[in-house]
Amino acid sequence: MSQIIYPTTNLKKPSNLVIERGEGVYVYDNKGNKYLEAMAGLWCSSLGYNNKELIDACTDQMSKLSYSHMFGGKTHQVGIDLAEKLTSMVPMNNAKVFFGNSGSDANDTHIKLLRYYFNAIGKPQKYKIIARERSYHGVTIASASLTGLPVNHSNFDLPFEALGILRTDAPHYYRGALENESEIEFVDRITNNLEKLIIEEGPETIAAFIVEPITGASGVIVPPPGYYEKVQAILEKYDILFWCDEVITAFGRTGNDFGSNTMGIKSPDLMTLAKQLSSAYMPISASLISGDIYQALIEPSNKVGVFGHGYTYSGHPVACAVALKTLEIYQRDNMFDDAAVKGDYMQSKLQKLNAHPLVGEIRGKGMIAAVEMVANKKTGQAFPNGDIGHYAMAACQRLGMITRAIAGSSLAFCPPLIITTSQIDEMIFVLEKALDETLIYAMKNNLI
Ligand code: PMP
Repeated sequence: MSQIIYPTTNLKKPSNLVIERGEGVYVYDNKGNKYLEAMAGLWCSSLGYNNKELIDACTDQMSKLSYSHMFGGKTHQVGIDLAEKLTSMVPMNNAKVFFGNSGSDANDTHIKLLRYYFNAIGKPQKYKIIARERSYHGVTIASASLTGLPVNHSNFDLPFEALGILRTDAPHYYRGALENESEIEFVDRITNNLEKLIIEEGPETIAAFIVEPITGASGVIVPPPGYYEKVQAILEKYDILFWCDEVITAFGRTGNDFGSNTMGIKSPDLMTLAKQLSSAYMPISASLISGDIYQALIEPSNKVGVFGHGYTYSGHPVACAVALKTLEIYQRDNMFDDAAVKGDYMQSKLQKLNAHPLVGEIRGKGMIAAVEMVANKKTGQAFPNGDIGHYAMAACQRLGMITRAIAGSSLAFCPPLIITTSQIDEMIFVLEKALDETLIYAMKNNLI
């Protein structure tokens, strides 16, 4: 026990795994046990642990300028350099970037940027945001309101009504399709629902639609082919901005540089980045907007005054230096292409577990995946609660691997991008053993 209030934890159960150090793709606890970190922490430690170049970038910047801010006319070179590199990488038109500290606050910033923008162009009534069921966008009051998971709403009186968050379908065919509905029919139905929602609410009141190109915390949902094409056509028709939350999917995670590219999304108007932006060596996030939106904010004739938003640590120079080095390493080492090849390998190895009696669906792209366990393989019937997921996660941990139980009964996989193919084999080997142990547990407890 300790004096800590633990995040995203059942506070009635004490936390007991004390992680002490990390090296490459492995972490070690205070008893010397070694674990393969198959989740890269919380989908973030892309370059693994104890990367000397990132440590040097950090300490060099600390010696040079440990802190400076960006309020009211000040800036610094490492922040300018990071903004230049980052905006040259993202699949957006003439992007501009605001720096923050976390994915949650970056999404809050975007909500405020949207309001500021529509006030600037004289459309203050255009403030509502469409988000999907089972999405994850963070846990601040505003970003938790965007999030579509009950656990982040209940007991917090969320979503916060004044934000005007509208909800549309999760694009998960396996769980969301009607009986005998094809993938094409499913996509047609849920995109028609989106259009109906827009018409009912009034397009003139809706600012943006936010998506994770491939979801993370809600179960690694990969939308069926054609989904984003239809969504983008609808948004264009009704003049609604498209906002990609790429906090997990950016920087080589999904088999391309950005998840938007993996999913065939055409230049989003807004993009949120964090996590792998600095390989999680320092907290930093980025809220990016297109050049067109930015242009409206600096128009001398617009109706808004000072952009009254900013964090003490917006563009923290040490975080910027580490992020800049991270991006340089990604490019220098061709890491996105490399991750795409290893991602294909990981997905094909995982698919071999499809025959396991406990496995209902294996889904993912590149270096992100989820294995969903079901009570009835034939019908896909879900387990009644998250028990099995937690049992399987604990089994993995006993066997020397860290994963996460998500979306009830799925195990998530999101290893550091530096993982080797033999370490992927090790990951699959442990998973298979853990699934076998979990099957025995399920049978003994009449859960299957
Ligand atoms: N958006 C997405 C897609 C995320 O996965 C997360 C975190 N898992 C967030 C936003 C929130 O980021 P943070 O935890 O850094 O606030």
